[in-house]
Formats: sequence, C-alpha cells, structure tokens
Amino acid sequence: MQNPILNHPDELTEITPEAELLFNEVSPYLKPEDLALLKSAYFFGQKAHAGQFRKSGEPYISHPVTVARILGELRLDMVTLAAALLHDVVEDTGIQKQEISERFGFSVAELVDGVSKLDKIRFQTKADMQAENFRKMLLAMAQDVRVILIKLADRLHNMRTLEVMSSEKQHRIAQETLEIYAPIAHRLGLENIYQELQELGFRFSYPTRYKVLLKATRAARGNRREIVGKILEAIKLRLQETGLDATVTGREKHLYSIYKKMVEKHLSFSDVLDIYGFRVVVRDVSSCYVALGALHGLYKPIPGKFKDYIAIPKQNGYQSLHSTLLGPYGLPIEVQIRTYEMHHIAETGVASHWLYKSKDIDAGMNELHMKANQWMKGLLETLNDSSDSLEFLEHLKVDLFPGEVYVFTPQGKILTLPRGSTTVDFAYAVHTDVGNCCVAARINGEISPLRTRLRSGDRVEIITAPAAKPNPVWLSYVATGRARSSIRYFLRTIQYSESVKLGERLLNQALYAFGVNPETVEPAQWEKLIRECGVKSREALLADIALGKQLAAVLAKRLVVPGESVSNTSGKSSITILGTEGMTVRFARCCYPIPGDGIVGLIKKDQGLVIHTQDCPAVVKIKDHKNMDNQLDVVWGAEIDRTFPVSIFTTVVNKSGVLARVTAEIAKADSNVDDITLENDKDYTTMRFILQTRDRQHLAQIFRRLKHIGEIVKMGRIKNQ
Ligand code: MN
Repeated sequence: MQNPILNHPDELTEITPEAELLFNEVSPYLKPEDLALLKSAYFFGQKAHAGQFRKSGEPYISHPVTVARILGELRLDMVTLAAALLHDVVEDTGIQKQEISERFGFSVAELVDGVSKLDKIRFQTKADMQAENFRKMLLAMAQDVRVILIKLADRLHNMRTLEVMSSEKQHRIAQETLEIYAPIAHRLGLENIYQELQELGFRFSYPTRYKVLLKATRAARGNRREIVGKILEAIKLRLQETGLDATVTGREKHLYSIYKKMVEKHLSFSDVLDIYGFRVVVRDVSSCYVALGALHGLYKPIPGKFKDYIAIPKQNGYQSLHSTLLGPYGLPIEVQIRTYEMHHIAETGVASHWLYKSKDIDAGMNELHMKANQWMKGLLETLNDSSDSLEFLEHLKVDLFPGEVYVFTPQGKILTLPRGSTTVDFAYAVHTDVGNCCVAARINGEISPLRTRLRSGDRVEIITAPAAKPNPVWLSYVATGRARSSIRYFLRTIQYSESVKLGERLLNQALYAFGVNPETVEPAQWEKLIRECGVKSREALLADIALGKQLAAVLAKRLVVPGESVSNTSGKSSITILGTEGMTVRFARCCYPIPGDGIVGLIKKDQGLVIHTQDCPAVVKIKDHKNMDNQLDVVWGAEIDRTFPVSIFTTVVNKSGVLARVTAEIAKADSNVDDITLENDKDYTTMRFILQTRDRQHLAQIFRRLKHIGEIVKMGRIKNQ
C-alpha cells in the first residue's frame, strides 16, 4: 500500500512523546498498513490544528492524541482511532468531510461527522426524565456506537483537564457529565470510563463536598490500613487453602459512590462503613461460587446483601457475585467475585466488539464475543424481533433505538415519538389544539411542510393559524395513534355540519332552477320526503346531498308539489366557491384549480363536491359521454382569503445549486413548496412542484420570478397529473 505521507513530504512533522506513546500502545495489535494510515491521520490532524492551543497552553493536537490513547487502551480498531485523532478538525479547522473521506476512507469520515453532529446539540433542562431522553437522543443520533465511544473518550479527557476552565464552566460541564455521559458509559458497560467520569463529575460539581469527603476517607483509610492489609492476606490464604487460583485486589470505593450512599440513605460519613472493597478474579464460573462459599466461611455474610449478577447479569452485560461480609472489628467489607472474562467485559463493555482478533485468540475469547453479543441483544430489548444482532455487528452499525426519534420543543424539552413521525404528530403530541390548527413547521429554523419526517435532534416549532383545520390527507402520513384519532374525531364532527351547509346550498340551487323559492316549501313536503328517504332528519338528508349519496335535482323535484308549475327556465344559478367550505368541497388533484381559473363542480358518490378546471381532462371526458347529471355550475367568490395548491414544472440544465435557486425564487414570490419530484436525464432535470398560490395573478408573479433563472429552459403549469 502506498503511504500517503510519502507523497506529501512537507507534511512530515514531529511525533510528540504523547503520540509516540499512542503508536507504541496500538502497534502490537494493529496491522502495519493500519498503523501507517493512523500515523498519516496524526500528521494530517497536527497540520490542521497547527497554531491552535488548548486553554492549558498545550498545542491542540495533544487533545485528540490523548482521546485516541484512551480508545487504544480499549484496543479499538484503526477506523475509530483515526477518527479520534481527527474528531475536531471539521468543527475547528473547517476541513471538509469529503477530504477526510478521500484521505482516510468513508468510515473514518462518517465517524468524524457523527462526533461533530453530537457536539452541536446542547442539553438544557434539568428534569430527570429529560436527561434520560437526552441520553437516548445521543445514542439514537450516533447510529454507530463508535461515535459514542469517541465522544466519551473526548469527554473524559476534557474532564481530566477541566481545572483550567472558569468555575462556572466547570460546574456546567461536570453536571452534564454526571447526568448524561457517565450513565451512557455505564449503559455501554465501560466500567472504568464510567467510574472516572463520575469521580471527576463529582469533583467539579461539588468541589467543597468532594474535598471534605476526600480528606475524611484518607483519614479513615489511614486508620484502617493495617486491618485492611490483614483482611487481604486472610482472603488470599483462605482461597489458597480451598485450592483456588485467584487474583485478589483491595479496591478503594469511589468517593462518588460513598457520597451517593450518604445522600440516598441520609447517612453521615462515619455511618458509611464499607468504604473498602475487595475483588476476587478466578478462572471459571464454578470457581466463583466456590470462592464465595470459602469467603462466607471466613467472615459472616450480612443478610440481604448478596447479589448474583452471574445468574442474572445486569442490563449492560455486567456479571459478578457481590456480597458484603462482616470483617474484624465489625468492619463491613464488600467483595466482588468474577471470572477473567467477566472482568474484561466489565472493563471494556461494548468496546469488546471491536477488539482486534489476533491469531492466538483462544476459545474463551469466542465465548466472550458471544456473551458480549448476548448482552448487546439485551440492550436492544425493545427492538423489533427481526433485528439480527450478528448482522448489525458485521456492519458495525448499531441503532440503539430504531423505533424512536427524539426531538426538541422550542423550549428545549425533549419529546419521544415513534420513528416515522411527522411534524403533524409532533403538533398533536404538544397539544390537540396545536395539532388541529397547525399549518407548517420550522425545523431547525427552516420552514418545512407538515409531512416532513422528523429526525433525532431536530428542533421543531409548529406554526399555527386560528382558522386552520385538520386535513384528511394527514391521515396518510401520521405515525402516532394520538394524531390519528384526534384528526378522525375532528373530521367526523366538523364534516357533518359542513356537509349539512353545503347540502342546503346545493338543494336551494336546484329548487331555484325549478323556479321555486326554497322558503315556500311546505313542512309537510319535507316530512314526506324524509320518511320516503328513510333518514332521521332534514340535516341528515342535506348531508347526504353534499356527500353525493343523493342528487339535489332529484330531491328538489320531489319537494315541489306535483301540479305546481315546474319550469326549468329561470336560468342557471351557480354555487359560489369561497374556499372556506372545509372538506365538503375538494379541489381536484389532477388539475389543481386556483381562483381565476374557469371551474366546474362534479359530485361523486361518497366524495361530495370536487372542483376541477374547465379544461381538466377528467371534465372533458364526462362531456364526451354526455353524462352531465352530476355536473354543477360553480364560480369563485369575490374575496377569497386562502392559498390553494397548484402544480407546475420547470425543466433546467443540470448544474449544481439550481434546485436551491428555483426554490429560493419561489419563496421570494411569497409561496411555499408542498412537494417536489425530480426527473433527471443526462443534461436536463424536470422538477415538478406543488406550490401554494393565492390565485392566477400570484402564479404569474411566480413564473415572472423564475424567468430570471437562466438555467430554466421550459416551465409551465400541469393540469393533468
Ligand atoms: Mn474534542
């Protein structure tokens, strides 16, 4: 393989001692060509960050190098390490993702991009529930767990060097670490990173308490050092006598866990006695239980304190036996017993997936992978059953919450919605009234149509209009039951009353056509008609007319008393369309009529009145068949205050950025785009738009604006979709 550095000798810069340590650490397990690529990533990063310094005064590159070292200790793959070295270059040096992809491969670029995206979202509110949602949002956005691993290592190094920050910043970052990042590390089973993040988070969140507690534990440990040493020896001896080959270590309990215990159980420090713990690591599972028996024989176990996480592992895959024993002088001591494999999983957690498989791996390692795999499955508990964990391990893509998206309200609150949810779902999740009146949304500051599917991390603001109403079309794309049932409920109630109104207008028009004033129809005639039609009320009959179940002309004829003069000479009266009829009047989606167009109304069974343009092929076809019974004269009202969808096309010469310019001109003409479809061939692209327009004049303005774009070779309105 060609070494990219050699092609650019001017990029050869020095390898700092830290970088030296990194390369020494990973060279035993990386392939030589991977190591070479990693080095070139280092040189590239060093050059990109040249002249930048950390707040501590060190050259900036020392930060990504340390982040990579933390990940190297977990024996992660070259892709992760290279991405760690480059994780800040997109944000801080303006290097493009494309360039990283070309130099170091698509996977590295993807990871860097993922980390940069996470850096952009900020956690705001304090509520516990929100913290949990925010953690899920991060995981959902990351998609590849390696992004999270880099982010955690990044946070760990920033926490280690937090001292140089202002105390205000220290507090904010430390809080965020305790609430968000430490629990994620825990959830992913990264025990060491979790503990360290917690300790540092505690130290900078509550500096005074930390100092006091540190002093107290040091003093307490000093006093007990001798006893603790004796206990350690006693445990070792007893395990030896039992014939077990075990590694025993004394373990100081972390300050944060002591602190939490004091807070949760309302204890003073002197009441928290088990500040010392011991860890026993043995060969196999059966030895764990043998060791437990031996230690229970040595010191009396405290009842209710035994936990078998081997039989029932923790959700993050952690396995061990935990027991608290009563040591000499009444000192409680906590012991953890586990196998070497369990110990390894406890330390590296999810990272064990990306461990390099060296040739001398033994069978135990395979078992480890299987177990890691198993608990990965456990992590994904809520997922659809079809997700085969082996498959996604192969692709190194893990979507931890594939069923959900996490989005922000304008106030920074996080809402959880099912995947596939649109802005309409969001609006109904906020409040039914917001859903019923929504007309558009601003997603991350940009105006977006209602059908837009939301992605984790989106900030969504719903735009409402007091006169707006739910549209039946929404039912075709909403994902939540709440939105669906709210829309249905609204439509049922509102549609009936609107249908009654329209039905009355249609019937009156038919009566006038017979030369009869609707006011003069006798109540008896009405009752007779209602009986004959088998409906409950006059309203029901009128609604049926609007829905096309009854023909207005037929009913009008029956309402007119036989023998009375029925003439069809009074001239044709028309129904006036105001655009405010709601869903009883629809505007056809073949020709998209707008005010100014000559229009025709067609009444179809169960669809009610549909307005078409006079030249719409659907109308012309009916005329050919002379089947004009259901055709209605309609005219536009004089003052219509709403917009209507209209369909247009533009054919443009293929050039980058044309679509953006076309949509920008449309926006400048004060119109919104509802939908775009593109059809490409070699030289030209035809874009079809559904736009919102007020009338023909407005549409003409839009076309005038589009004429300024030189790349457009053809454009026009579409009336035969
Ligand atoms: Mn960083």
